[in-house]
Formats: sequence, C-alpha cells, structure tokens
Amino acid sequence: MTLHRFLAPAMLGSCYFAAARLAVGLTRFDGGVAFLWLATSILATDLMVRPRSQWLTSIIPCAVASTLVTGWWGLGWAMALPFTAINMTEAVLAAWLFRKFTDPRRPLGSLDWLIHLVASVGLAAPLVAGLLAAGAVWWIGMPPVTTFVNFATGHALGNLAFTPIALLLTRRNRQSLVKEIRRRDLVETVALLMLFITIIGWVFGQQRLPLLFLPTLPMILIAFRIGRGGVALSIAMLALIGGLATASSLGPIQLVVASYGQQMQFFQFYLAATVLTLLPITANLENRSRLHRKLRESEEGYRLIADYSSDLIFSLRIDGTIRYVSPSCRQIGFEPNQLIGRNCSSLIAPEYLAEAAASHLLSLKMAGATNRFEYIAVTATGERRWHETHARLIVDEDGNPDGILSIVRDIHAQKQVEQKLTEAAMVDSLTGLDNRIAYRAAIERRQPGVGAVGSCVAVLDIDHFKLVNDQYGHDAGDIVLRGFAEVAQRIVRDGDVVARIGGEEFALYFPDTALPQALAVCDRLRSELGATIFRDGTSAITVTVSGGVAELGPEGLDRALKIADMALYRAKQAGRNQLALAA
Ligand code: GH3
Ligand code: MG
Ligand code: MG
Repeated sequence: MTLHRFLAPAMLGSCYFAAARLAVGLTRFDGGVAFLWLATSILATDLMVRPRSQWLTSIIPCAVASTLVTGWWGLGWAMALPFTAINMTEAVLAAWLFRKFTDPRRPLGSLDWLIHLVASVGLAAPLVAGLLAAGAVWWIGMPPVTTFVNFATGHALGNLAFTPIALLLTRRNRQSLVKEIRRRDLVETVALLMLFITIIGWVFGQQRLPLLFLPTLPMILIAFRIGRGGVALSIAMLALIGGLATASSLGPIQLVVASYGQQMQFFQFYLAATVLTLLPITANLENRSRLHRKLRESEEGYRLIADYSSDLIFSLRIDGTIRYVSPSCRQIGFEPNQLIGRNCSSLIAPEYLAEAAASHLLSLKMAGATNRFEYIAVTATGERRWHETHARLIVDEDGNPDGILSIVRDIHAQKQVEQKLTEAAMVDSLTGLDNRIAYRAAIERRQPGVGAVGSCVAVLDIDHFKLVNDQYGHDAGDIVLRGFAEVAQRIVRDGDVVARIGGEEFALYFPDTALPQALAVCDRLRSELGATIFRDGTSAITVTVSGGVAELGPEGLDRALKIADMALYRAKQAGRNQLALAA
C-alpha cells in the first residue's frame, strides 16, 4: 500500500516526462513550442478519475517532469516554471471542467459525454493555456500569435486524440472492456483485430496512396461486432502503429508536403478526427445494446411472472382477440396456442356476453383505471365456472388504445360458498322452506299485476304444539314440523309460497288470489293436516292447526301479516282447529 502510494505518482510522473520529452524532442522546431502534445491528456485523465483530495500527489510529479523537460530540452530554465504552471493549469482546468459536467469514469457513455470532452479538453483548456503561453513568450520577445496558434492546436489535437484513449485505458475501464470483449465470439474478435492490424500495417507501410480513410472501415465493423472494448483497442493500435510510422517518416502522411512537425501535427489531427468519428457511433451502439439488454431482462421478468402465475393473464386486441395468454390457461383445459387468435368471448357463458361486451368497452374508455367483472366462463370440457376479471387498457406509444390486459381468476369455490351462505340465510334448515327473510323477498319480487285480482297472505300456527314436544319429545316435534311443510307444499299451487316464520308458525302467500280462494286452500290444508298421522317410532301423532287469512292490501305486507295474526288469535280463542278472516 505504502509502496503503491509512491509508485503510482512516480509512474505518472515518468509517463508525463516521456510524453513531454518525446514531444519536445520530436516536434519542437525553430525554438518555438512543440507541435504535438500528449502529456496533458495523461495528467488530465489521471485527475478525472481521481478524488480531488489526491490531485496534488498527481500534479507534483508531473510538474517536476514538465519543469525538467522545458528547462533542459525546451524553452530553457527561464521559461521552465511559467510553462510548467501553464501545463498544470491546462490539465487541471480540463479535468475540472469535464468532471463538472459529466462522470468521466464512464467512457463512451453517451453523446453528452463526448460533447463535454470536446468542450473541456479539446477547446476550453488548450485555448486558455495557449493564451497564457503567448503571454509568457511575448514577455521574452518571442512572437505571441504563432506561439498561440501552435500551442493551442498542438495541445487541442493531442488532448482530443489521447484523452479518450487514456480514459479507456484507466484500470477500472480496462477491466470492464476486457469483460465486454470476453463476452463476444473469440474467433470473430481475433479475426477482426488481425484484419485491422493488417490494414493499418499496409496503410502506414506505404506512402504512394493517401489511404488514411481506410482504417475507419474495419473500425466501424469492430464497433458493431466487438463493441467498446474493440474500438478502444483499435484506436490504441492506430495511435501506436500510425504514430510510430509517422514519427519515423513513413506512411501516407509523408504525402503532406510540410515540415516534420507539421506532419506529426497532421497525424494527431487525423487521429482526433478518427476518434471523434468512432466514439459517437460506439456510444450509440452501446446505449442501444444496454437498452436492449434492459428490455430483455424486464421482458424475461414479466414472462416469468406470467408463466408461474396461477391467474390467467390475457393480452387482448381492441376487438377482444386473444394476443397472448399465460400458460395457466391449461387450468381451463386449453393450450395457449389453442386460444391465441380466438376471440375471448368464446370463453364466456352466453348469458354473460352482453355484460362482458359492456365491460370491455368500459375498459377501453377508462385509461389508467382497472375494471372488475364477474361472470361464468366455459372451460374446454364445457364446465361452467365462475371467474372474475381485472381489466386495464393498454396504450401504444402515442397514447392510443392498443388493447386490454386482463388478469382472470377462478372464483368458483368462493362463489359456491357465497351461494351457500346466501341460501342458508334464506332457507329454514329444518323444513327446507323459505324463512321469514326469503318469504318477504319472494313477495317483493312478485308485484301483483295491474288489474289482477289481489293477493292474500295467511298465518298458520300448530295447536298446542308444546304438548307434542312434552309428550313425544323434541324429535317428534321436528317430525311434525317437517310433515307440516310437506303437506302444505303439496296442497298449494305452483307460485304460492310457504314459509316457516317462527317455531311452529307458518306463513303463506297466494299471489293473484281472492280472499275466498285463499281461505279455501288454507282450509283444505287445515283438514288434511288434521287427518295426517305423524309417526315417530311407535308413536302416532296427530295435530290440528289454526290460521288467520288476510288480503295483501295497498298498506303493504307488514300490515297484512299483522291483521292475519290478529285473525289467528281469534281462531285460537274460538277453540282452535279453525281459520278466521282478517276483519
Ligand atoms: P297454541 O295452540 O296456543 O299455539 O299453543 P302452543 O303450545 O302451540 O304454543 P306455544 O307458543 O306455547 O308453544 C310453541 C312450542 O313450539 C314451544 C316450542 O318448544 C316449540 N318449538 C318451537 N320451535 C321448535 C322446533 O324447531 N322443534 C320442536 N320440536 N319444537 C319447537
Ligand atoms: Mg301453537
Ligand atoms: Mg306459536
């Protein structure tokens, strides 16, 4: 760790020294500034990826290197400190500006990234540094304009060509790029890189034809097939092979009729142009493949949910055609491919079709809301089962209705329990007759027709029933109660209602029946019941019944039952086993 703390700045200083020495040695002419400058990109890149608290440990060794090179081989010791200050200012300004606007640890991330890089490293920093350099040389009597032009161009080109490469080669990025390359087809990767090396070898190995455009072609291919890592590698190869060739006065740049330094500067210009052409392509491709990956991942996630869901998931077209159905449709006996393309209405029981269509239309109108609907579905075997659907509108990218997403659940068991509970609440468990609630509901359902004869109600009560229980036991009493229900149901017409409204108290309802007819039916029931012998083991039991009959008038059911009850009381008073009409 301690060693690394010294080693890293020392290595950085050495690299800076080598780059600066090379530039000054190879590209400085007529006592002016260097034409080619890649030292700034080395320091700037280091600062970009380093916490600001460690900046000084990077700046100091580079400042020492810069001072030594300028003093020894450059403009001399008088200018060494001012130029070191200028070079350091440039690197710091470039890194600070770049970091202010973007995250430099993600190279080739986006087009924004590239624009920020060009603006900070390629324009602002070299321009400011160029002005400072012009000022410094003017002070010792050198031409400031030429200095400004040469300095700013050399630094801008060097920064633009080498900062992206240096950023790509920082440790963190190296690892992720190597990982990316590994994911690709190895044979294809090697073949493409070999092809690329062959092409640049040929282009820079000759100087008859201006073939500088040629390496771009395989580089674009590499961007598409290998991705960011491949592009980084090929840029580095181009810089190395092309740079070495040009520096050794070889290659097509010799066709440029200019001084050695200008040729080197032209090479940097070429390199910067190539890098700036390739990076946006790579950024775009990378973004696209990242989006594609994300999409696939989220699609896989949803598919997983759909595949393992016990609910049925439907995607329907606007007209109800099934576009997708989850494999859980096997629950209702279908394979997904049997349902896809069919209209969902073929799964709905006919009596629910109209309601289903209305619900579908409602869902199409209610963007963002979930619409619930209960119905009976018909399975592959023709079984009718209760289902519930939660439906939601799907819209396309323009916000227009594109279909419906339906989550369908089998609620048959739940419905059956519900129905049983409802029945239990309406039916008397001992006799199977309607109870008081069902009696009332039945009468409310059947409004007497206009102009029809009125309806009647009756209340019947078994006489001295307590004695039956006392004499023969409670079970025997129950047998009598059930027997009453049987006899009564046999005697009344279809459409009449018999209900048990109390312990041994029954109510009857005769729709569209005049009072004398109702009385006659009740009397038949009374005499039939009196003649019936109920048996419990060896016991033979007979009972009689008393009753009151009343018309169901406009005052309503409660009033009619009340006066029937009063009539019943009178019948009891008059000696039982008889009927009385309501007064
Ligand atoms: P009345 O002629 O005045 O109607 O006399 P009653 O004995 O029939 O009348 P009361 O109201 O005094 O007694 C009704 C009896 O019905 C009392 C109760 O134990 C019995 N009872 C009520 N519900 C049931 C039942 O579900 N099963 C049996 N076995 N008896 C019942
Ligand atoms: Mg009684
Ligand atoms: Mg009673």
